[in-house]
Amino acid sequence: MAVYIDAEESWIQDGIDELVDWLMGVYNVDKPVVFNTIQLYRHDRLAFLRNSQQRAVAGGYILGVKLVRGAYMDKERERAAEHGYASPIHATKTDVDIDFNAALSFCLQHIERVAFCAATHNEASCMHMVRAALAAGVDLRHPHIHFAQLMGMSDHISFNLARAGFNVSKYVPYGPVREVVPYLIRRAEENRSISGQVGRELRLIQEEINRRMHAQRE
Ligand SMILES: Cc1cc2nc3c(=O)[nH]c(=O)nc-3n(C[C@H](O)[C@H](O)[C@H](O)COP(=O)(O)OP(=O)(O)OC[C@H]3O[C@@H](n4cnc5c(N)ncnc54)[C@H](O)[C@@H]3O)c2cc1C
Repeated sequence: MAVYIDAEESWIQDGIDELVDWLMGVYNVDKPVVFNTIQLYRHDRLAFLRNSQQRAVAGGYILGVKLVRGAYMDKERERAAEHGYASPIHATKTDVDIDFNAALSFCLQHIERVAFCAATHNEASCMHMVRAALAAGVDLRHPHIHFAQLMGMSDHISFNLARAGFNVSKYVPYGPVREVVPYLIRRAEENRSISGQVGRELRLIQEEINRRMHAQRE
């Protein structure tokens, strides 16, 4: 069993990080039970990941991390502008992608001391992870490697990773309607761009429909 602690706004994260570090020191000594979340859209988080790994080595426990890009980009930028401080968010999506993949590689390099979950719908990051694991000769079923996608999203990624032998979970939101509906609306907003994940999935479904129609005709 594992407990994943979500990350939300940057201005409440320091306290959560301290608490999760303390919990990991208590519960992650023999195996990873508690996982913090690292949002790689923040430009300080790759360094934070490296520091967390060093704290885990010094503290004699296994670092558990869920790696995400981050879901509150607009809110973070708006608050930073409103209060007059520098935005904690990377300037471009490319910078975020570079840090996300670097974080995956870092975790893989320290697999004995770091357990991690690649929580992403991004095919390129999943491929990066698979290739890096194969190149490093790491067993795909290593208990420290996980993938997760949201329920109802990117099943083509989840199913193919599971078939290749990785540990894969679907993340299921539940709770009171007043809390779950705003959560689902945020996910819908995240997917509003046709160049995003929903657009990619629609294209894949359309390609599969075409493939089956052609197969029937032949
Ligand atoms: C299992 C699971 C658990 C999650 N838990 C959390 C959590 O605890 N906390 C949390 O914040 N999020 C969480 N998320 C959501 C996650 O942070 C992403 O918002 C979401 O997964 C989309 O990113 P992606 O990696 O799938 O791929 P992509 O579609 O490749 O990336 C989209 C993301 O890129 C970033 N981005 C897009 N445009 C820009 C830009 N112009 N500049 C800078 N960055 C940009 C944003 O972070 C955006 O969400 C979770 C996701 C999953 C699958």
